[in-house]
Amino acid sequence: MSAAPTARRAANSGNGLILGVARASDAWRVAFASEPRTSPQPLWFHIEVSDLGGAPVEFVWENPDITLGGRDSIHLLRPVLRADDGPWQRCGQVEIDEHDDGRKSLRFHHDGGADTVAAAFCFPYGPEHLDATLAELGGAWTRSPIGVTGGGRRIDRLRLQWEREARGPGLYLTARQHSGETPGSWVLDGILRFLAGDGEDSRRMREAVDVWVCPFVDLDGVVNGDYGKDALPWDFNRAWEQMPMRPAVQAIQRDLERFANLTAPRLVIDLHAPGHSTPGLYLQLPREQRPPEQQQAAASFATELARHFTELEPDALARQTTYRSRWNMLSTVASWVWDHLGQTTCVCIETSYQRLTQDLLFPDDYRDIGRRIALAAEAWLACRTAD
Ligand SMILES: [Zn+2]
Repeated sequence: MSAAPTARRAANSGNGLILGVARASDAWRVAFASEPRTSPQPLWFHIEVSDLGGAPVEFVWENPDITLGGRDSIHLLRPVLRADDGPWQRCGQVEIDEHDDGRKSLRFHHDGGADTVAAAFCFPYGPEHLDATLAELGGAWTRSPIGVTGGGRRIDRLRLQWEREARGPGLYLTARQHSGETPGSWVLDGILRFLAGDGEDSRRMREAVDVWVCPFVDLDGVVNGDYGKDALPWDFNRAWEQMPMRPAVQAIQRDLERFANLTAPRLVIDLHAPGHSTPGLYLQLPREQRPPEQQQAAASFATELARHFTELEPDALARQTTYRSRWNMLSTVASWVWDHLGQTTCVCIETSYQRLTQDLLFPDDYRDIGRRIALAAEAWLACRTAD
């Protein structure tokens, strides 16, 4: 083998402190650690190794056992790999090393044949991916600036283009309040494509529902490659106070008020991803301190979801929200939307980084999940329109 390759953070959404590059028989071994950045706890990584000249590379992730989800399930993780400009793939298997001190690291391989190999915790999705999708969909979605992030980036909101005469049902979607939770964006990508499609379901829903989308709530975190869960100084999904604690939240609150003025009945869906290995898809029920009517409305959406995800146990589609929070646990988008938009229902949906049941998820699987969530939303809204 020739000179050592270069290992570094990826240019977009890059994250990962390179700890060492060394020869390991016929391969290069790249050791790295996920960077927590603004979060107390790390998870997201996205690095790349270049000048490999076709040599195999072994990645050694040195801190998976302190990431969100705990140390006992890291053998279930399947990071993603990309060779040169090819498609992202899941790594087929991982090996766990338990060290003398109790620390665990996780190894995964690329067999070689490429000059550059990128590795990430899950499939990256940033503004460049959204731009490509919207370009593919022609003028189906219009893009309006609704604010500017703390880092000086334009916050866009998309709206599905359709001539509507009167105020009708409305769906508002958000993703990436936690910037590293890329499954939410792949699900949203599927919703954008489905609603712009030529199929009968797509056309029917387009005629019936006014759809608004804020694709990247923590856009700065998405671009920077921050994990963004419990981001300091204030988690985005705890910043929905009476007086908003994040500029993006303030901008989206004003936009949600515009949306509420133009639509009824309404549903808001906030897309997330759960702990690192949690399988399936589920919505977080409002905490027990919230009004029973809000809890019932969220549970009724879970029932609708169950009709579209028959491979999952119906009871598994809604989970009690009891985990500890570093901030006011009631200052979420769901609480704010209920309290400020005339008891509008907002559900937070968590989609696995790994799998629904057995099979690993790929971008097209996430997109199909998005299609099914859209159909559940349409059906849920139709029940309320008929009331
Ligand atoms: Zn989240």
